[in-house]
Amino acid sequence: MIRAYNASGAIFAPPMRRMILRFGNSGSGLTAAVLAASLLSAPQAQAEKPFDFMTTPGKLPKTVAPSAYRLDLKPDLDKLTFTGKEEVDIAVAKPTDSVTLNQNGLTIKEVALKDGTKATVTTDEKAQTATFHFPHVLPAGTYTLSIVYSGPITAQPAGLYYNDYDVAGAHKRMLVTQFEATDARRMFPGWDEPAFKATYSLTVTLPATFRAISNTPVAHEEPAGTGEKTVTFGTTPKMSSYLVVLVAGELDRINQAAADADIGVDTVAGKAEQGRYGLDAATKILPYYNEYFGVKYPLPKLDLIAIPGNFAAGAMENWGGITYIDNDLLFDPKTSSEGTKQSIFLVVAHEMAHQWSGDLVTMAWWDNIWLNEGFASWMETKATDHFNPSWNIWLRAHADVETAMGMDARRTTHPIQQVIKDESEADSAFDSITYLKGQSFIRMIETYLGEATFRDGMRHYMAAHAYSNSTTADLWSALETASGKPVKQIAAGFTEQPGIPLVEVKTACAGGSTTATLTQGRFTINDPKAAKLNWQVPVSIGLAGDTAPQSVLLGDKPQTVTFAGCGKPVKANFGDVGYYRVQYDDANLKALSAGYKEMAAADRVNLLGDVWAMAEAGRLSPDKFLELTKQLNGETELVVWTQVLGSLRDIDDLERGQADRPAFRTYARGLLNPVLARVGWDAKPDDTPDVVLLRSSLIRTLGRFEDPAVVAEARKRFAAFVADQSTLPPSLQDAVLSVVGYSADKKIYDQLHELGRNAKSTETLLRYYNALGGARDPALIAETVTITQTDEITAGRVNRFIGAAASTSDNPELVWKLFLAKRKAVMDKLTPMQRAGVLPYIAGASSDPAIGEELNKLPDSNVSSGARHDADEAIEDIGFKSGFKARLVPAVSNWLKGQATN
Ligand SMILES: [Zn+2]
Repeated sequence: MIRAYNASGAIFAPPMRRMILRFGNSGSGLTAAVLAASLLSAPQAQAEKPFDFMTTPGKLPKTVAPSAYRLDLKPDLDKLTFTGKEEVDIAVAKPTDSVTLNQNGLTIKEVALKDGTKATVTTDEKAQTATFHFPHVLPAGTYTLSIVYSGPITAQPAGLYYNDYDVAGAHKRMLVTQFEATDARRMFPGWDEPAFKATYSLTVTLPATFRAISNTPVAHEEPAGTGEKTVTFGTTPKMSSYLVVLVAGELDRINQAAADADIGVDTVAGKAEQGRYGLDAATKILPYYNEYFGVKYPLPKLDLIAIPGNFAAGAMENWGGITYIDNDLLFDPKTSSEGTKQSIFLVVAHEMAHQWSGDLVTMAWWDNIWLNEGFASWMETKATDHFNPSWNIWLRAHADVETAMGMDARRTTHPIQQVIKDESEADSAFDSITYLKGQSFIRMIETYLGEATFRDGMRHYMAAHAYSNSTTADLWSALETASGKPVKQIAAGFTEQPGIPLVEVKTACAGGSTTATLTQGRFTINDPKAAKLNWQVPVSIGLAGDTAPQSVLLGDKPQTVTFAGCGKPVKANFGDVGYYRVQYDDANLKALSAGYKEMAAADRVNLLGDVWAMAEAGRLSPDKFLELTKQLNGETELVVWTQVLGSLRDIDDLERGQADRPAFRTYARGLLNPVLARVGWDAKPDDTPDVVLLRSSLIRTLGRFEDPAVVAEARKRFAAFVADQSTLPPSLQDAVLSVVGYSADKKIYDQLHELGRNAKSTETLLRYYNALGGARDPALIAETVTITQTDEITAGRVNRFIGAAASTSDNPELVWKLFLAKRKAVMDKLTPMQRAGVLPYIAGASSDPAIGEELNKLPDSNVSSGARHDADEAIEDIGFKSGFKARLVPAVSNWLKGQATN
């Protein structure tokens, strides 16, 4: 799956970066008790073994395993139910008179063996299983089970569900599946754990006007009574159940051949051409991946399917049939922004990387989900950079590292490899640690081993585990074989234990040389009792402005690095590729600040990120960060401004209701206005993509800081836009609308609402609703919460809408209070994973401990261990912010006074 990008792509750093990015994914999945245990014994307890089917974790007995499924489904689109006939070939390894497999919400009517032996059925809804009891013991051997059953087609975007949409004024319905992590069992009884790989042959009866898409091409179609047809798909290779897909509706398709595969983009009728950009991206990426992985894409076709609105994730890598929420796949030059364009390429590259990492080679159990997701996130960035060097995407991956570290410094973090006990935890493992710490760590290891060596290791790994499963240990041994370097030893610290190394750098000048002494500790925020941990940290270090840094592997003993000459400051984490924080001695930090402009952009943003993090951790006073911002005149890099805007927004949020907020905003506007003056409001022919994105972020933030000229200009442009939408370029729309949304009066709010109701695409719909969700007038916040009670925003996105409103409306406490009272209607539409995340998301936008206390006591926070952890994370974050605020507000106040007298 892909984590969800925020409304403006991954570009604008909103406050609460970690909550927004991980939302829809929804937090890690450890209860406090398990977390405490894993902290104490992490490296030993979780040291990993190579993949072995029999000892892979899971709930189902390994003594019965499927080899081939044949499924025949008859959905009833009016009654919203379906019936199923299933045949499944199984191997029984140990004599047994019962067979247990997964199901969730199905009614199983009949179970029999080929010889006519019937089984009685018991189900356990909590464990999501069914057990078939036979009248006699089945000796070891192979059998075919026949199962007749039925189930619901739900509105919740999980399992087999429906998605209603309008096209050209007509109301339409389509069928969609979403199975990861544990929802294949809502469509068919089966062994719904990733290690049980089997082949699938799917037959489905549908309205004759529908086109159906699954993992493999259609083998044949035949009429089936009035207005219906039966579609049979080819048999899949051996694969995990969570990767099965079925999408059916009145769909168009455009296609293109690439490396012997037929690549298609599928959309609702009339939108196929908007798939052209995604199709071109996929056509470029497929041969690149064939080459990189050394194993050719094994299926004859690949569909990229745009789901109109009702989709809980950003995208899902079903083998041969990837599903996307349509705004992550469709690009309309008339309405789509630069951010959308870049996010489409990234998401297409991410899901296609999964066709190998995840689909061909699958993690054995959900405790290793990072193997799928960390790797796909890293590969997505690598491929996007390869084809779009002007996007500076690796440089901008700094924001991903910040997001991961934002979570990983906390008490509620978890190791990349984590114990997964149950279904709610499997769902909630899709968080920033899994995706982004995984990505950052892989990048660090690739840099350490060298690009070609790392790729060779990956090729071995793919070939060795194709059509099977793997564990982290398998990946490390492939990389050790390829490189001859101690990968396991380095990796264990980063994947088997939580947290971030802190590298402390103390410098001195002696005998005409600069020496830097490096020691390591653990970097934490708001976690004084954190266990002491140790890493093998590949540190890259040099003199500021140098081009050839030195590499050292820092263990528990201090190390000294020497540089010729004195006078230049030392910079560690050179090039910003390491997953660690750096704290410098005062004199060196001062010299780095003074020499800020001589450093490369990667080092400038790395320094700003570390200084801000030290302020959050209480290791530096927050005014040190503000002092550093004085070096920013003339700064042009998007990545640097993204980092700075994020920190300024964090300060502004904590200054809410404080006497110094206006003075702080005045300082921030003074910092940002010259930059906006340079890039201007209007696009220029030589604008780089970075400039387009920077302009949008600056306008948004200046609007947030109530810059009178920016607010007036945005309102003027919005008025023109309401009259004629072609007057506002798509890449400026998110920014202008968010500025007018934040300061909206009733009239503007109603205009935004009207635009939202008439929106023709998911991208524009979310743009309008996110803008009105930022309105801070309390009466309008009440209207925003009322919108969640309607069907204006699909079940797949309404949770994010209200979560974003909490952090953008400047009044999360009111959103919380109003939504809490009305939540039932919304909760009923959400998947369990969305339900677990929505209240923590809203509450976590506040810094008021009373809201944390309320969240803590809610029954909603205890419905599953996944929900409990999401709540704990938000409560922890509220506690941190409340403490940080107490330190920040006086420090900012003093610093501002100092500026006035300077
Ligand atoms: Zn993914």
